[in-house]
Amino acid sequence: MGEFELIRRHFQRAAPADSAVVLGVGDDCALLQPPPGEQLAVSTDMLVEGRHFFAGIDAMALGHKALAVNLSDLAAMGARPLGFTLALSLPAVDEAWLSAFSQGLLALAERHGCPLVGGDTTAGPLNLCITVFGSVRPGLALRRDAAQAGDDLWLSGCTGEARLALERRLGTAWAQAVALDAHTQATLEARLHRPEPRLALGRALAGVARAALDVSDGLAGDLGHVLAASRVGACIDEAALPLAPALAGLPDTWRRECLLHGGDDYELLFTADPARRAEVQAAAQASGTAVSRIGRIESAPGLRLNTADGRQVDWPLRGFDHFGTSG
Ligand code: ADP
Ligand code: MG
Repeated sequence: MGEFELIRRHFQRAAPADSAVVLGVGDDCALLQPPPGEQLAVSTDMLVEGRHFFAGIDAMALGHKALAVNLSDLAAMGARPLGFTLALSLPAVDEAWLSAFSQGLLALAERHGCPLVGGDTTAGPLNLCITVFGSVRPGLALRRDAAQAGDDLWLSGCTGEARLALERRLGTAWAQAVALDAHTQATLEARLHRPEPRLALGRALAGVARAALDVSDGLAGDLGHVLAASRVGACIDEAALPLAPALAGLPDTWRRECLLHGGDDYELLFTADPARRAEVQAAAQASGTAVSRIGRIESAPGLRLNTADGRQVDWPLRGFDHFGTSG
């Protein structure tokens, strides 16, 4: 099968009539028509075998996750998806693999109205790069540099499950020591392999929240990006951090590692004026996504953790480091 047949079979789909896609896969460029007056939001993420996913990972889950992590960036800006491109480097043309991969990819794309509009395909080590295009009304994008001292600090969903799933998969002793029933284990695996981008919440927060980002490299580390960009500090109340059932049995040290430095969560971390609490809750309700108020933004730089046992400790703004020994 040639390159063009491969693209036609696995990646070429008609875009829905009501989409922003004027011209999709097959020409020299795609043509997108953003809603009148809106700004274009663009983000790229690369996934490398052995670094961001295990060799031999389920192809359908990989297709899902590759797009999900990009859509999560649009969610974090409060943007709505318009379309995406896919640059794919493949070691071999494996029909079954390609079919499963494109199913996982395109099912998520369809669910969020984000058609595949183009890309590039080449032979080489397995490597995927997706670029998403979205749009947002001027002035409403949720930027990292917009947090203000006195803001509430909010988190969607909960953190830590993907990290626990990863460590169990890697055979790490503290992670394997937790006894989990089959259902809880399946939930963990889904959090690692099939993250759900919080697009509806992100859009509902545009114009309500002040600063936001998606938590991909650990809550504390990613919070550090907001604090640096906004030149502020923060305080987190440990008791307010939502705790997934799977993490309840972990010793303090490892529970905190998962909650605060976990990685691969794809939740939204955002700040908002305390006067807008009701609007934040309404956005959460309207989008069917739970949110928790986990702390606040302060003028003093750095991060402080109010521990569940009543102490306040300075906490490192360390993330999950893909170039470190743990990544
Ligand atoms: P060009 O020679 O202009 O780079 P290509 O031959 O690489 O074009 O691709 C032909 C068409 O197929 C283009 O519209 C391109 O966007 C699309 N395409 C190539 N690879 C992919 C892919 N993996 N997914 C979606 N579209 C793709
Ligand atoms: Mg090309």
